[in-house]
Amino acid sequence: MSTTNKNENKFERKKKKCKMCGTQKGLISKYNLGICRRCFKQNAERLGFKKYD
Ligand SMILES: [Zn+2]
Repeated sequence: MSTTNKNENKFERKKKKCKMCGTQKGLISKYNLGICRRCFKQNAERLGFKKYD
């Protein structure tokens, strides 16, 4: 499995915060949602993502 996000990392200059709870921990940059994993799980279905585990 190879996931290379080098370009995304270069692009992150300022610290991102979860736009739902404000935390900086566990942010998901993969989907450009601007939310953390916790909020993602809570809102996955609303945002159109299937639940995963
Ligand atoms: Zn959050």
